[in-house]
Amino acid sequence: MGGAAGLFAVPESTGDLRVLMESLGRDAIPWILIGGGTNVVFSNGGYSGCVVRLGEEFSRVRREEETLVTAGAAAALPRLVTFAGREGLAGLECLAGIPGSVGGAVRMNAGTREGEIGDVVEQVQIFDGREPQWIPGQEMGFSYRRTILPEDRVILAVRLRLRAETGEAVRSRVAQQMERRRTSQPTGVASAGCWFRNPEGDSAGRLIDAAGMKGVRCGGAQVSPVHANFLVNTGGATAADFLALAGKVKETVHERFGISLEEEVRIIHG
Ligand SMILES: Cc1cc2nc3c(=O)[nH]c(=O)nc-3n(C[C@H](O)[C@H](O)[C@H](O)COP(=O)(O)OP(=O)(O)OC[C@H]3O[C@@H](n4cnc5c(N)ncnc54)[C@H](O)[C@@H]3O)c2cc1C
Repeated sequence: MGGAAGLFAVPESTGDLRVLMESLGRDAIPWILIGGGTNVVFSNGGYSGCVVRLGEEFSRVRREEETLVTAGAAAALPRLVTFAGREGLAGLECLAGIPGSVGGAVRMNAGTREGEIGDVVEQVQIFDGREPQWIPGQEMGFSYRRTILPEDRVILAVRLRLRAETGEAVRSRVAQQMERRRTSQPTGVASAGCWFRNPEGDSAGRLIDAAGMKGVRCGGAQVSPVHANFLVNTGGATAADFLALAGKVKETVHERFGISLEEEVRIIHG
């Protein structure tokens, strides 16, 4: 859903990325980076600038030392989780079932109640238009689904410090996590995951449910009857349907509980 992009670029090397950034800068063309695009919603009008997605060359995953793994930002997060299970490396099981890329996960500090990716990030390789540089994970300022990385910085790769365990133990925790997800979240239906951030000390899903919003629709968009913080596409929903539904949810929760919900998904206008 959402409109078209003016331009779409897939740089395959740091050199490509540099040339791309220079030419977009020269022509004053705005750009936005996406990984898997699983946490962004483009409005019906689309995006007039350039959508940038790192190419295959940025998707390598390898074990560097006993417990150190380097993963390219374009690598799929589920692939990284599977890799760790196969290698007998613990620390990423909490991320099992989260779609998207490694870069997007680091930027969003993706996670669950069981933990988040920031817990195991040792270093992040950043591109700021000049030479790529490795910075310590602490400089990312990881907090609940947030980092303090400026918008115009591109994550190229990440070094993760994991713990050695038997592959069997790691894979069993991954399976448990997947099962938890299967029984508590909608499956087989398009969504952007949790739409709203959990307010301090509460859960957005609980509030939306308590406000009687489960199953409410706007066009093709619906508050999931399974998990109220998931807004799902029942078929043919437009971005405008989702934004209208999100607005209705916010208004109702505010009226009932005096709490202003904030989006976790990133909404891109224009
Ligand atoms: C079914 C479903 C379940 C989900 N469950 C969870 C969950 O349990 N926990 C959770 O935290 N999230 C969850 N999500 C949300 C989403 O999957 C995560 O936030 C994911 O980590 C986003 O990764 P992405 O590559 O798709 O990022 P995108 O959506 O493409 O981008 C997200 C943000 O990261 C930025 N970004 C992307 N790549 C880079 C890069 N290389 N460098 C710098 N910035 C970058 C983008 O500009 C954007 O601001 C779920 C989503 C779905 C659809």
